[in-house]
Amino acid sequence: MVTAEQLYEKLKDIQVGNPICRFTQENCELLLPTIRKIEELKREKNAIILVHNYVAPQIYYSVADFTGDSYGLSKKAKESNADVIVFAAVRFMAETAKILNPQKTVLDPNPNGGCSLADGITAEDVIRLRKEFPDHTFVCYINTTAEVKAQCDVCVTSSNVYAIIEKIPNNKIYFLPDRLMGENVINHFKSKGLNKDIQLWDGTCYVHEEYQPESIDQVRRNFEGVEILVHPECSSSVVGKADYVGSTSQMLNHVRESNGDSFFLVTECGLTGVLQSEFPQKTFAGSCTLCKYMKSNSLEDILNVLENPGPENTITLDPETQQRSLQCVERMFEYSAH
Ligand code: SF4
Repeated sequence: MVTAEQLYEKLKDIQVGNPICRFTQENCELLLPTIRKIEELKREKNAIILVHNYVAPQIYYSVADFTGDSYGLSKKAKESNADVIVFAAVRFMAETAKILNPQKTVLDPNPNGGCSLADGITAEDVIRLRKEFPDHTFVCYINTTAEVKAQCDVCVTSSNVYAIIEKIPNNKIYFLPDRLMGENVINHFKSKGLNKDIQLWDGTCYVHEEYQPESIDQVRRNFEGVEILVHPECSSSVVGKADYVGSTSQMLNHVRESNGDSFFLVTECGLTGVLQSEFPQKTFAGSCTLCKYMKSNSLEDILNVLENPGPENTITLDPETQQRSLQCVERMFEYSAH
């Protein structure tokens, strides 16, 4: 189990937001009783805790067994031997863990953790669209409900969306629900001379759609030599100004391998904190944009869900949704493997 000193060591370099929000050793000591109880319950119940890169750093660095982006965490969920999976992120990610582990108990400590993308389209919308576009392959971003996945052909994440759509033999694609990511895919293919007919649903991530290209220009003017890393949920005018485009885990790996020493991150600010902690010799800046859904996870809720999960915390899927959404997600792993 992590000690207060080890936790402080991980958190002390994180300076997202106002300096008054910096972690102290005292804060870390106050968290320890909750962390200790969570660790005991994990052992007792053969549970693991998966934590997304955007979740608060005191969770990320204390009780997580695995951290990462939605693709990496869904792989961990698939490989897990645990009886119980606690997913500290948002609802659709916990659902994806359940899709991949129908026999296991999957617990969501943050049952109100929505997502503006996942909440912006329903299974009925997809059923209607499939009638309108009968020849198209339906590709859904992982940020969708299990019911929506069950109506689609292939799932993708921000780390594999370009590669998988390129591999799909059908040239007619309906991509949902992220319009901005879809526009980035279209531009990417155009730049490679690939011609696919890609139709888009009009959903957006409320965090990433806010970034403006003028802010990138300003950062470049003010910080010579800064590398700008952008998430593909941003608009094409922002992505077009990036030095690197990728998922949160791809950004983390890019920083690890880069010779650069200063970076500006155009994504939810949780990742900026993680990178500040992991690479204290490098300089990171990012906007202070928080995802209210990701940030509504807490250590107390994780403890409560392990001690006494309610029906709202326990993910259940009807058998047909389970089976059809599994096919959609499994196809993502198949495409990723070749
Ligand atoms: S950051 Fe955007 S895409 Fe990610 S969970 Fe929050 S609302 Fe959804």
